[in-house]
Amino acid sequence: MNILSIKNISKTYYGKVPYKALDSINLSIEKGEFVAVMGPSGSGKSTLLNIISTIDKQSEGQVILNGQDTSKLEGEKLAEFRRKQLGFVFQNFNLIDTLTVGENIMLPLTLDGRNVKKMNRETKNISEFLGIDKILDRRTYEISGGQAQRCAIARAIINKPSLLLADEPTGNLDSKSTDDVLELFAKINKEQSVTTLMVTHEAYSASHSDRVVFIKDGCIYTEIKKSGTNSSFYNKILSVLSQIGGVR
Ligand code: ADP
Ligand code: MG
Repeated sequence: MNILSIKNISKTYYGKVPYKALDSINLSIEKGEFVAVMGPSGSGKSTLLNIISTIDKQSEGQVILNGQDTSKLEGEKLAEFRRKQLGFVFQNFNLIDTLTVGENIMLPLTLDGRNVKKMNRETKNISEFLGIDKILDRRTYEISGGQAQRCAIARAIINKPSLLLADEPTGNLDSKSTDDVLELFAKINKEQSVTTLMVTHEAYSASHSDRVVFIKDGCIYTEIKKSGTNSSFYNKILSVLSQIGGVR
């Protein structure tokens, strides 16, 4: 089943000089898939994710998520759709530092006006799953980057979103935390069947996905599907990156 269909998406930024950041992108994602997006800096990866997440609007084309054309939603309907259907994880964690870890995680449930007991139970379950159940009472400035990102991931998946979007989620982490967080994305995808779209500049993290879509100059350059082991997939990814050039 198709969870996401992107049809002929283009995006022009109108500054002093108009700039076409995306040019006729077509992409479909199946329920349960783990898709990585790679491409040089400035190729349009964040623009694409921002459009899918409804933070930004496309200039042309359609985004259909779970049967809903996202451009047809606005106001409270759009806010509710975002809360129920989408989870986001960003490079800079985006936690609220006046709240504890636990309060940050349950924020989407609070906004939905859920029963407190149920919220606490769900927060406990998800934080155990992600290995942060011991730090729920801490403030966000009392935890490490890796813990902060796991907190952000918990918040993103607590509503069981149809699609989890992550834009360079390990960009601000050291290499040990990077490995841990990447393993978690793979685990969330496999064990909780969360459909995931993740931008990454690391071939190793992309090799955990089912499919890698490469973007260059606002267009889809090519895509490759996993067949065989992670390590043979890793080598194929490296070979496409060497053709594209310019990936950090
Ligand atoms: P990536 O995430 O692949 O590094 P982005 O999607 O952030 O690339 O940016 C794609 C292109 O669009 C870049 O050339 C960038 O400078 C430009 N761009 C991004 N956001 C804006 C904006 N708000 N206004 C004008 N240009 C933008
Ligand atoms: Mg980006």
